[in-house]
Amino acid sequence: MASKNILIVPGDGIGQEVTAVGKKVLDKIAARFNHTFHYDEALIGHVAIEATGNPLPEESLEKMKKSDAVLFGAVGHPKYDNDPSAKVRPEQGLLKMRKELGLYANLRPIKLFDELLEASSIKPEILKGADILFFRELTGDIYFGEKGRKNNGDTAYDIAEYSRYEVERIGRKAFEAARTRRKKLCSVDKANVIETSRLWREVIQKLAPEYPDVEVEHMFVDAAAMILIKDPRRFDVVVTANLFGDILTDEASQIAGSMGMLASASVGDGTGVYEPIHGSAHDITGKGVANPLASILSAALLLDISFGMKAESEAVISAVDKVLKAGFRTRDIADANTPADKILGTEAIGNEVLKFL
Ligand code: NAD
Repeated sequence: MASKNILIVPGDGIGQEVTAVGKKVLDKIAARFNHTFHYDEALIGHVAIEATGNPLPEESLEKMKKSDAVLFGAVGHPKYDNDPSAKVRPEQGLLKMRKELGLYANLRPIKLFDELLEASSIKPEILKGADILFFRELTGDIYFGEKGRKNNGDTAYDIAEYSRYEVERIGRKAFEAARTRRKKLCSVDKANVIETSRLWREVIQKLAPEYPDVEVEHMFVDAAAMILIKDPRRFDVVVTANLFGDILTDEASQIAGSMGMLASASVGDGTGVYEPIHGSAHDITGKGVANPLASILSAALLLDISFGMKAESEAVISAVDKVLKAGFRTRDIADANTPADKILGTEAIGNEVLKFL
């Protein structure tokens, strides 16, 4: 029996709808396993800009730092997507949250529930059994280096930087995770041409002897992009830099069939943040059709990684599996063979998960 403080940060658009369902699942777990979860809420993104002028108000950041874990939704609003020059933007809140909480590792488990084999755009015989855990570095690389324009604005530059320390800390997390799985680690870089990649490879090679039970492979990012689609079962744990990870994990999301199914964890040395990989999806906001399973699976990751509650986490994943086995789908994961009465909205499919719990 444990007592934990969970901060709910729904953010914008469907973030509000799916996070409400994720929270209900945490509540159910607390009741079933005799834990006490205390909740608080905080603002981020467009809703925070509207309320305070700041995409990540100091009050939200303080609450995040004090909590044991954060269940986050998404940020974003069409207003900003169509105005790249807007000075204050929702995603600044997200980047600041990652930086301030020191969230240097983004974990994305990519695993297809068997019932959704047909929902993917990749052939079922290639996908069946694929189970990958990505570690994307989150606070370095070209995203955070110096950027600017020269030659009267006609030339632009973004500097990519990594330190030995930054590569080593995420490398260790990935090696340790590989130990608990199939003991294979693939480090993805572009060491034939990029200097930060050469350092990346050097550091991973240096760490390898400390984990003799883990088989290490180094792969160039272009080859990795190809093999992910051709033979995804070849990968177990993948570790890579921020930019490569950003692109490869979205590519890999197609292995799981839908954005609405994929959860992620951002961890560092302090509070962990758990969130679906999808955005605020304003095209479906307010319609009650958003798939909440990614938020529910994010809650499962939270229980496992931040609280060490393995049985609780597995109970959530198993409940999602049962809901899919019972034939229930949200619109995004339904296909031509799904009977109309099995296609449920956000709240209704969440209630099915609660029933199985
Ligand atoms: P998106 O992920 O919001 O949506 C992409 C497509 O997938 C849309 O058609 C949407 O309807 C669908 N979709 C996404 N999640 C779904 C779910 N749970 N259930 C059913 N369908 C789902 O990406 P986008 O449209 O490129 O971006 C929309 C906004 O979200 C933008 O403002 C963008 O900046 C922001 N965004 C935020 C994050 C984040 O907060 N981590 C990530 C990506 C995009």
